[in-house]
Amino acid sequence: MVTKLDVSYVCPDCRSYLLLFGSITLIVKPCTNEKQGLLLIDPAMGKYEIIGNSRLDLTSMDCFDYYCPSCGSNLAATNTKKNMARIIVIDIDEKEYDLFFSRYFDEHSTFKVVEGDSA
Ligand SMILES: [Zn+2]
Repeated sequence: MVTKLDVSYVCPDCRSYLLLFGSITLIVKPCTNEKQGLLLIDPAMGKYEIIGNSRLDLTSMDCFDYYCPSCGSNLAATNTKKNMARIIVIDIDEKEYDLFFSRYFDEHSTFKVVEGDSA
């Protein structure tokens, strides 16, 4: 049976696959806070819904650092895009391109906080 490959999201450093259950899974740490946790980003076009633990209180933070959950590498983009984090997208034709997302909370991101706490 031939299975069509899906779009993949990988870490720029270790090339680990970051997509789990349809969401990009990253470690997030607010710039002004030592707490860190796991974050799920829904990659659907135009719908960057972010799900995190309610104890991280993401909506009150201005700025985030994102880390690869596999190698721990900081995903902040370099040079002209320091305000962005970067991962690599591999499309169904095996072409690679960069996916940038903001390190700052703004109207382009919707933060969904999961209530209840088991993590
Ligand atoms: Zn990595």
